[in-house]
Amino acid sequence: MSTAVDPRLLEILVCPLCKGALVYRKEAGELICKADRLAYPIKDGIPVMLEDDARKLDPAEEVAG
Ligand SMILES: [Zn+2]
Repeated sequence: MSTAVDPRLLEILVCPLCKGALVYRKEAGELICKADRLAYPIKDGIPVMLEDDARKLDPAEEVAG
């Protein structure tokens, strides 16, 4: 898959707000911050680490991992 995110990139990425670890949701193409309950989109394999572009997680949405 050409849209796969570089695993080395995932290892160094942190949430820009809380500097916490992120959960990579491959199927959704998102990076999740559990602390802030935000989902950062991944566009063309490039994570978009902007709060303005992040999706707020639904209160019922559980984040595994
Ligand atoms: Zn965060």
